[in-house]
Amino acid sequence: MYYEKLTHIFKKMKLQEQFPNISLDEFDKFIRKQLVYNDKYISPYKFALEQSVTVNDSVKFFMYFTGDEGIFDIVSYAECSKPSCFNSRIYFDINNVDEQIFCEECGKIYSFDTIKRHIKILFKLKESITIPDKAQRISRRDPNSAYEALRELHPNLKKQSPPSLSNAPTCDGGEKREAGIDLEVVLEISTETGMPVISAVEKFKNKIQSLAG
Ligand SMILES: [Zn+2]
Repeated sequence: MYYEKLTHIFKKMKLQEQFPNISLDEFDKFIRKQLVYNDKYISPYKFALEQSVTVNDSVKFFMYFTGDEGIFDIVSYAECSKPSCFNSRIYFDINNVDEQIFCEECGKIYSFDTIKRHIKILFKLKESITIPDKAQRISRRDPNSAYEALRELHPNLKKQSPPSLSNAPTCDGGEKREAGIDLEVVLEISTETGMPVISAVEKFKNKIQSLAG
């Protein structure tokens, strides 16, 4: 299902035309690499860095693969404003924002209206998506690459050669914490023509509109 979904969305949405600098094969490699290092969330920031594309384009690309038809789910969080809870993420489900959103560390309760400007979004591989052990070659952008040839012989090769990016120190003293994308950025991108309708994003939009009205 994983490769079927990737190729289906890529072709259907004509992503090669829209993102000429991004290959589906690189996207697949990137996702696999993140998972090898046990990253729970797949970061558009890191992908942008690796592919030398703008963060905006990277987020857009990710959004095409998000939602019911895609491979990613959206996870949302805000950070508690109390200085003693610095770095304390409050994860919440947009379906339950009418109930209380509270910090588990200090117990402070927030209303959606208060935190809406500070909400951040992470992309997480859907529970239902299993990535096959053996990588498939999706596009043949670089058929002469020695790496490609080796990869076909040894699908697990990449596990033995860690990429430099993952060795970089993180800001959190070693703990892996992917930086979220501002909800405002995601909402803005979602209104561009051709962008897929993602139900979680629509719910955020509606919720914010209902509070404004
Ligand atoms: Zn707190």
